[in-house]
Amino acid sequence: MHVIVIGAGAIGVCSAWYLRQAGFEVTVLEQRAAPAQEASFGNAGVIAPGYVTPWAAPGMPGKVLRTLFAREAPVLFRPSLDPAMWRWISRWLRECNLERYRTNKLRMQRLAFYSRDCLHRLRSELEIDYEQSQGYLQLFRTARDLDMAAPAISLLRENNVPHRLLTPDACRRVEPGLAADTALAGGLHLPEDESGNCPMFIRRLHQHAEAAGVRFRFDTTVRRLRTGKNGALTIELAPETKGGTSETLTARQVLLASGANSATLLRPLGLRVPLYPVKGYSVTTMVRDELQAPLGALMDESYKVAITRMGNRVRIAGTAELGSRRLTLRPAALHTLIKVARDWFPVAGNYQEATLWAGARPMLPDGPPLIGATAVPGLFLNLGHGSTGWAMACGSGKIAADTIAANEGAGSGPGIDMDGLTPARYGLGPVRQDTMQR
Ligand SMILES: Cc1cc2nc3c(=O)[nH]c(=O)nc-3n(C[C@H](O)[C@H](O)[C@H](O)COP(=O)(O)OP(=O)(O)OC[C@H]3O[C@@H](n4cnc5c(N)ncnc54)[C@H](O)[C@@H]3O)c2cc1C
Repeated sequence: MHVIVIGAGAIGVCSAWYLRQAGFEVTVLEQRAAPAQEASFGNAGVIAPGYVTPWAAPGMPGKVLRTLFAREAPVLFRPSLDPAMWRWISRWLRECNLERYRTNKLRMQRLAFYSRDCLHRLRSELEIDYEQSQGYLQLFRTARDLDMAAPAISLLRENNVPHRLLTPDACRRVEPGLAADTALAGGLHLPEDESGNCPMFIRRLHQHAEAAGVRFRFDTTVRRLRTGKNGALTIELAPETKGGTSETLTARQVLLASGANSATLLRPLGLRVPLYPVKGYSVTTMVRDELQAPLGALMDESYKVAITRMGNRVRIAGTAELGSRRLTLRPAALHTLIKVARDWFPVAGNYQEATLWAGARPMLPDGPPLIGATAVPGLFLNLGHGSTGWAMACGSGKIAADTIAANEGAGSGPGIDMDGLTPARYGLGPVRQDTMQR
């Protein structure tokens, strides 16, 4: 049985690997010339199942409004007439209450913990090194930011996730390079969370997948997906040259893992998924002073900026920009990242000469991704991983492969409870009249 995977980001490559392991013939179609060139390329690299969290949280709308016009803001908003953006915001606002936050967070954590187990198994099976570092330290500049973390901290306690609340001095013992003169109200340390270089891992996994028989077709853009004759799906490719003829492929099983671009491909099939690209930025610099550089991964909770050690480099990533679908570099966002880096690690690297990057997080308004079968026979989704797709990539790939195998009568399906993680959540599941799971 043949499966076509659309997209060779973290999610598509992991899915392809596990599908091949499950015995499928696999072809991956990717518009870029190599794997992990879009959202999976310049991300912060944090794998924090203990703290994986939806952006729709109590207090978030107020925080966004308070900082919207600040010089260094965690959220940038470009008002536009894009109805998809306004629908997304309206649904996001409805998710910002404690009950929805807890439901969404527990769903995300269930997947992220499972994914971390899958990642650990894969890295020891295949001996993949990807500049891993251990531990995740959250920094709260003010008592107010610390208070806002209360619901998340109580969930950590309820679920027995190892964590420690730290005084500013204790934070500086975990990360001795932290500047002493930047205001710090306290920290939260998750010793079992970790970080690593996402594109480095995905490129290695791509090599293993190719050696195992997965066929990757790069520079291949899917223009349109249609339902074809005899229950097969038709995949129309964009012509390779301007004015050239377009190739059409057919497949009985297609897995859509095309990140932020997925909603456009689903619309002609009558599947409307509230996926919106939320732009983010990163800057990466070589470590200049080892003793004053970060050792692991940190998150400045006040600015929602992550600082991660990746081998001999430091990456600073963050900013949520709504309303712009173009991946142009916006100086205001980069300025915020560099300010935060300088606040905490002023001489760790030469930030003026850093490599700059922008990418689009494939965000659903509530948080968890959608993995599984749709109402269109043979079409499966693995998308909407938002700001935590790297942390969820291996588990999501395994779940997608197990779902497709079970659909073919092989195996018993995913190894975790899928409640709230399937397309049924938005009424897109196999039975069209399925009630939307809230
Ligand atoms: C600034 C920033 C920081 C982040 N930090 C973290 C973090 O610390 N930890 C974490 O877990 N996550 C993080 N993320 C999120 C994470 O990077 C994403 O969730 C993840 O990369 C999504 O993977 P994906 O494979 O779904 O999407 P992508 O990596 O975007 O892959 C989708 C692929 O599909 C291809 N494609 C799209 N359309 C077509 C088409 N029509 N035909 C053929 N190919 C197509 C694209 O070229 C692309 O290669 C961050 C994201 C950003 C932007």
